[in-house]
Amino acid sequence: MSKLDKKSVMQLNIDRLIAYFNGVNALAEALQHYYPEDAVSAAAIYKWRKRGSLPLNQLQKIILMAEKQGKPIDINVFMRHNHTTPEKIKMTSTNNRVIIFDTTLRDGEQSPGAAMTKEEKIRIARQLEKLGVDVIEAGFAAASEGDFDAIHSIAEVIQHATVCSLCRANERDVRKAGEAIAPASKKRIHTFIATSPLHMEHKLRMKPQEVKEAAVKAVKIAREYTDDVEFSCEDALRSDLNFLAEVCQAVIEAGATTINIPDTVGYAIPFQTEVFFRELIQKTPNSDKVIWSAHCHNDLGLAVSNSLAAVIGGARQVECTINGLGERAGNASLEEVVMALKTRHDVFNLETGIDTTQIVPTSKMVSTITGYPIQPNKAIVGANAFAHESGIHQDGVLKCRETYEIMSAESVGWSNNRLTLGKLSGRNAFRTKLQELGIELGSEEALNSAFARFKELADKKREIFDEDLHALVSDELVSRAPDRYKYVSLCIHSETGEEPTAEIVFNTDGEEKRASSHGSGPIDAVFKAIESKVNSSADLQLYSVNAITAGPESQGEVTVRLSREGYIVNGQGADTDILVASAKAYLSALNKLEESPRIKAQGVI
Ligand SMILES: [Zn+2]
Repeated sequence: MSKLDKKSVMQLNIDRLIAYFNGVNALAEALQHYYPEDAVSAAAIYKWRKRGSLPLNQLQKIILMAEKQGKPIDINVFMRHNHTTPEKIKMTSTNNRVIIFDTTLRDGEQSPGAAMTKEEKIRIARQLEKLGVDVIEAGFAAASEGDFDAIHSIAEVIQHATVCSLCRANERDVRKAGEAIAPASKKRIHTFIATSPLHMEHKLRMKPQEVKEAAVKAVKIAREYTDDVEFSCEDALRSDLNFLAEVCQAVIEAGATTINIPDTVGYAIPFQTEVFFRELIQKTPNSDKVIWSAHCHNDLGLAVSNSLAAVIGGARQVECTINGLGERAGNASLEEVVMALKTRHDVFNLETGIDTTQIVPTSKMVSTITGYPIQPNKAIVGANAFAHESGIHQDGVLKCRETYEIMSAESVGWSNNRLTLGKLSGRNAFRTKLQELGIELGSEEALNSAFARFKELADKKREIFDEDLHALVSDELVSRAPDRYKYVSLCIHSETGEEPTAEIVFNTDGEEKRASSHGSGPIDAVFKAIESKVNSSADLQLYSVNAITAGPESQGEVTVRLSREGYIVNGQGADTDILVASAKAYLSALNKLEESPRIKAQGVI
């Protein structure tokens, strides 16, 4: 190849690039819209075309703009002599893209006490979209009116990710799911039925052929609402492989586009999972017409390993949750699956659409909202995940990061603590920041009250970070509901050699109550003082404090888990004073105990 040829290969086909954006004028208008401060005139674009090149910074702007417009481009195809299509190749036509299906809002919510309000779910859904997940499973539409409503609202606000509802394989459930996701620009119905002998015989009391027919019927009804239908064989990894292949073949014919093979009970072992996927895919006629998916539970601590094994076996969708939240020991953790695929690209050679720098902010938000603290030694998102205690390691890391670190803290969004607001920030800056964070308070009153609390916090803490705002707003949204109990003030006396005492003032149904008590420690005294008036007869199951951000000025975030007659709730409170945060968390848990427990849909994957 001559030098000239090489050069022409590197040249950009500007005509083609312009055509992709519908012509010179449309491109100029789009640039004007996305970069009003640094707009480019149509005349300038004509010049690029004439010259056959454009400045690199303009090219970068165009690539970014295409992302924002939801039609990302692969710039390589705009090089001369390249004739492939400009759109990035979609998942269905390649097999090097793993779809990340997040079920924090459905499976994650099934963790004891992790029930979320509609507003909280919407905030998490927005953050998941920012994180770049492909599918958001927003809930189980038929489970309750509240679930239906939350899915419907999420479907209205999410723009790029697919919004999905789970449903059992019966007509009523499927139609509910279809109605709930109706407003979404991209929508999926996820229907399931058990296929293991144990579940079919004892839970469903159905014969295998009846199960197959129910599955086909459900998929067909689902297709009335959307072309994107996922089918799950509950307890698949304990099902008979031949029967499973038969059911899969039937649902593919009926129009399913994704088939999920869940390890519902967390029983699988990775090398067997890989073989299982490979064999099932081989055995199923037309298996190349669908995306195969893994959904693994963590009862043996193997959920992530099993998911990755499934991927090696041919799965191209992984169902997972933030922080590994989920029933019992939880689901596969999204952050671990994604970072394993990314860090060991040499092994997998697979891509995801995740913006990994959003991982830690998402993890913190989910932890704050659900009241599930993250263990410090948790991979990727635990406080110690990137801390190097040992002197030898520290020395190595300082000399060359790669010696002991396989990925950087920045790449997953640590030290992304952005200073957002300070003491002098005004109401408008506050409102704008909340909008940026995807938080809607619903009314001017709520905004005013949140702003007042922000000012209070800013008096105690000079720097206010995104995480502080999320905690503050979580508090605000919770206390906006017509709660029975509201915190007013607290006085603690604690001295060496003396039993601590707490005096608390709080509102019950609008009436002010004062109570005081001794305790073995100040927190015990606070809780006993509250209980002296409330007499909830609840058991305290868990108490934990976490720092929201780094540094001695950080707010403490307290989680209190109470249980009464098998009903479990998590209450949260945040304050720079952890005793105040503890009182708030206890009252918040008492408020949640007042709500009626939600009916849990029976049989979930
Ligand atoms: Zn599950």
